[in-house]
Amino acid sequence: MSKQSKIAIVGGGLSGLIAAQKLKDSFEVTIFEKARGVGGRMSTRRADPYQFDHGAQYFTARSKTFQTFLKSHIATGLVQEWPAKILTLEKNKKPYKRDWFEPHYVCTPGMSSLCKYLARDISCVFSAEITAMERNNNQWNLVDKSGIRYENFDWVIVTAPSHQAASLLPSDFKDIESIKDVQMTGCYSVMLGFENLPKLNWDVAIPKGSLIGWMAVNSLKPARASAPSIIVQTTNEWADHYMDEDMEAMGEIIIQEFCDLSGISLNNIAHSATHRWKYANTLMPANQPFFLDADQKIGVCGDWCIEGRVESAFLSADSISNALSNCCLL
Ligand SMILES: Cc1cc2nc3c(=O)[nH]c(=O)nc-3n(C[C@H](O)[C@H](O)[C@H](O)COP(=O)(O)OP(=O)(O)OC[C@H]3O[C@@H](n4cnc5c(N)ncnc54)[C@H](O)[C@@H]3O)c2cc1C
Repeated sequence: MSKQSKIAIVGGGLSGLIAAQKLKDSFEVTIFEKARGVGGRMSTRRADPYQFDHGAQYFTARSKTFQTFLKSHIATGLVQEWPAKILTLEKNKKPYKRDWFEPHYVCTPGMSSLCKYLARDISCVFSAEITAMERNNNQWNLVDKSGIRYENFDWVIVTAPSHQAASLLPSDFKDIESIKDVQMTGCYSVMLGFENLPKLNWDVAIPKGSLIGWMAVNSLKPARASAPSIIVQTTNEWADHYMDEDMEAMGEIIIQEFCDLSGISLNNIAHSATHRWKYANTLMPANQPFFLDADQKIGVCGDWCIEGRVESAFLSADSISNALSNCCLL
């Protein structure tokens, strides 16, 4: 396999970055990312003096492969266990405590930190939303939203959420129908900043019978900025139902529900912002770890191949990289 073989990876979330790290010694790798930085759904948003993990909140590590990968990052403190105090909340009912029965990890100082670390020696083109893949002389050319062309790649790996991946892939990609069948589901995240946060008896609150599915004191996660901040996330069902509504109006409804559940007054909130994730979680995954077509020289991976979790993004990218290396060695 020649080092000159070029791979374009569409997407700079965890799966794109894991693939890039695993393939960079054998291929010339370039990541194309539509956002201004890496992280994807493991992003961290800053609004001085506040900081919010408005996508993934934590991750677990159930497979040996992911546990082995995490070891060195736990040793350096880039990944830390989050020993949160968890409460289940129901309106007009006494709250009760819950425990986590396996380690829950976060990246420090923000959820995007692991992706930033993985991107440190990878060539990344940001603000490049790829809108077309064109085949010419056995090579792939990519075109971004502003018409810029990136030419002569031997392989393309697409790591976007399934619907976005399907709209980019050639219509004759052999697994296109399986990818279209994947069902992903949305989430609204509301970021709240406080000058003084009233004392709470939870770090994480899991409401029952509410449009809110998760509330966490972001600033109490390990190694966070100290300005008090809370992240509130809706259930996937509620988000899908109201996905096309005005985002700010939805934010107000979520904040009102947050105040009702937490007992925190609206007047205490010094900063608020809403983010809408159209594709947050996976309802129906592809049930295969990745898709690879050696004739067309296209690979597709991402969490949604397996399950909507950080660990699945890792495993999907890890396994496609092994398969691609093997198939190129043949
Ligand atoms: C609100 C929310 C809460 C979550 N909570 C948890 C949790 O607590 N625990 C957990 O394990 N998981 C959680 N997840 C899921 C977790 O974030 C994902 O499983 C994981 O981050 C997926 O990584 P990925 O690289 O496969 O996809 P992504 O992170 O989505 O990366 C894909 C990248 O592709 C880019 N992209 C898309 N289309 C294009 C294009 N055409 N051109 C260029 N770039 C493109 C996107 O901008 C993105 O950066 C949560 C997700 C959300 C949104």
